[in-house]
Amino acid sequence: MQTNFDLSNYNTLAMPATAKMFIAINNHSELAAAMALSAWHDNRKIILGGGSNVFFAADYQGIVVHPQFLGKELIAETNESALIKFGAGEIWDDCVQFCVDHNYFGIENLSGIPGSMGAAPVQNIGAYGVELDSSFIKLDAINLTTGEEKTFTKDDCKFAYRNSIFKHELRDKFIITAVYLNLNKQFQPILTYSDLKDLSVTELSAQELRQKIISIRNSKLPKPTEIPNAGSFFKNPIISQELAHKLAQEYPHLPKFAYGDNKFKISAGWLIEQAGLKGYTHGTASTHSNHALVLTNSGRGTATQFAELIALVQEKVHTKFAVQLESEVRIIE
Ligand code: NAP
Repeated sequence: MQTNFDLSNYNTLAMPATAKMFIAINNHSELAAAMALSAWHDNRKIILGGGSNVFFAADYQGIVVHPQFLGKELIAETNESALIKFGAGEIWDDCVQFCVDHNYFGIENLSGIPGSMGAAPVQNIGAYGVELDSSFIKLDAINLTTGEEKTFTKDDCKFAYRNSIFKHELRDKFIITAVYLNLNKQFQPILTYSDLKDLSVTELSAQELRQKIISIRNSKLPKPTEIPNAGSFFKNPIISQELAHKLAQEYPHLPKFAYGDNKFKISAGWLIEQAGLKGYTHGTASTHSNHALVLTNSGRGTATQFAELIALVQEKVHTKFAVQLESEVRIIE
């Protein structure tokens, strides 16, 4: 266990926060040893994977637990599909590459997403019309209080749009150690998003689709190593049909997509842009000039100005559209 630990290299926003204590966990026995320490039970804890979806608004007065469980293992297969077990500490995009290399298909649209495998189900990561839950089978986790091992099925995880039980009632209660995905052996590309519409279903390989997605992302999104950021900062709001129709009358170009029964998902990036905040700078914090939904710590500042920018974006969007933006990124105080 390390004390007064600098977290600036452990969050892609490069916030200069510290943790009262920090521990990396590589396996079950290291976790058992950590749980035997009195400090373990005397302090609150958070799980920090790749740090790509977190804003440290203040120093963390507890234990930051960093899972590093590794491994990519074929567990079972049929002619149609393969069940693969991934260690929670594996880098998500390395796992996508591994699947594409081995002709296991289904997550290629999720190429280039930063973060770890263990974080993927917490957020139910999604991109270009594919969400993790479409391949997810189960995960292994350990209760951080009792040490009990538990397997969570897809139903147990209560997946929703960028959401799961691990963001709510079980937040920081379990450490995820492994994730099991069921991948197809036949490549069936999903090309519904306009950025992918020019691709030919018949001639496309999974490797080509992966490269296309990576190059689109690279062209739109700032690299955290160059401009610190945590990807899309806000969720795309899910609003009532009534409000969607009202907004569409006033703003005919509002991007809106049917979402479940009588609901619509609208583009948070578009709302921020229309509120006049694309490429807006507030001290050391900015909205990105290519993608207003990405808030950057461009001046590598402290949390104060970044928090002020979040509040300003929410206020301006609410004033103009009567829509409350919720952060997709976890805010830790
Ligand atoms: P985009 O393609 O410009 O689309 C803008 C928004 O409209 C997206 O957020 C997307 O929602 C929605 N959308 C577009 N086409 C849609 C369709 N055919 N059906 C349903 N919804 C549609 O988005 P972008 O910002 O360049 O991002 C591309 C993809 O990568 C998106 O899926 C986005 O979520 C994902 N991404 C995620 C992050 C992150 O940090 N979470 C960062 C960058 C990109 P969805 O977001 O629900 O897909």
